[in-house]
Amino acid sequence: MPARKTTTRTKSSSKSSSTSRTKARSSAAQKTAPRKSAASGSVASTKVARKRPASSAYKSATKKPVVKLPAKSATKSATKSATKSASKSTTPAEQLREYQRKRDFTKTAEPAGARGSKSAARKVGELRFVIQKHEATRLHYDLRLEIDGVMKSWAVPKGPSADPSVKRLAMQVEDHPVEYNSFEGTIPKGEYGGGTVMIWDTGTYTVEGAGDRSQNAAAHDEYAKGELKVRFHGKRIRGSYALVRTKGQMRGGGDPDKPAWLLIKHRDDDARPEADFDLTSEYTTSAVTRRTMEGIRERGPVYGE
Ligand code: MN
Repeated sequence: MPARKTTTRTKSSSKSSSTSRTKARSSAAQKTAPRKSAASGSVASTKVARKRPASSAYKSATKKPVVKLPAKSATKSATKSATKSASKSTTPAEQLREYQRKRDFTKTAEPAGARGSKSAARKVGELRFVIQKHEATRLHYDLRLEIDGVMKSWAVPKGPSADPSVKRLAMQVEDHPVEYNSFEGTIPKGEYGGGTVMIWDTGTYTVEGAGDRSQNAAAHDEYAKGELKVRFHGKRIRGSYALVRTKGQMRGGGDPDKPAWLLIKHRDDDARPEADFDLTSEYTTSAVTRRTMEGIRERGPVYGE
């Protein structure tokens, strides 16, 4: 029989949860996450065990967030603006402030982006996308979608999948300039995002169900709602996908101020089971220069305009 006193004590102590207690709980939750994930038979179960960090990140993204990171006052406003930018229109220059703040353009060959100029959002036609393979501290794929004149960006640790039964974690990162779409090269060690960047795929995408709205207006609305249904017209990534914002914020590897999303293939003619076809292992060279990661590292600074 369980001792009653013990139960009471546990309850009352958990009520008075201080910040440090919250932290401790969160790190404990993280440690147990991978085990739980296997037990609950979550998506992509065949691959879950392969990459511990990603799976634990995925876990915290799909489960209801147990703990919110204590918001630092310095990052509070950034969080706010990142969230707000979804619902109201800001200029590309405003949206790119975080991107520019994080980089020293005297040291990196990445484009600085339109500083104060009005490279306005395209009102008609198809919107551009790029997926960049990025060998930074940890290998990942950066998915960028043109919305409101900037590239809304997500770091996808495992890259896209053509399998509708696989949900891929996509951690939102800062908006990038449209010029970034043609960046391929190596960011110097020690700089933000240091490592080699390959243009893994690039092309246009359309928003499904745009109706009377322009493509950009539809993309803007769906992005704000946290559920984007898009069709990729790439060389490698093709067909219909959903990008769905979760309620959790990214922890352990992602930007804690940005929400986590899931990238999911819809069932259509371009869908293929992972067992037969793995997009990222199928294509390992640049979609524009045909270079390998090693080739980019050795030969060259930047591909582009
Ligand atoms: Mn990246």
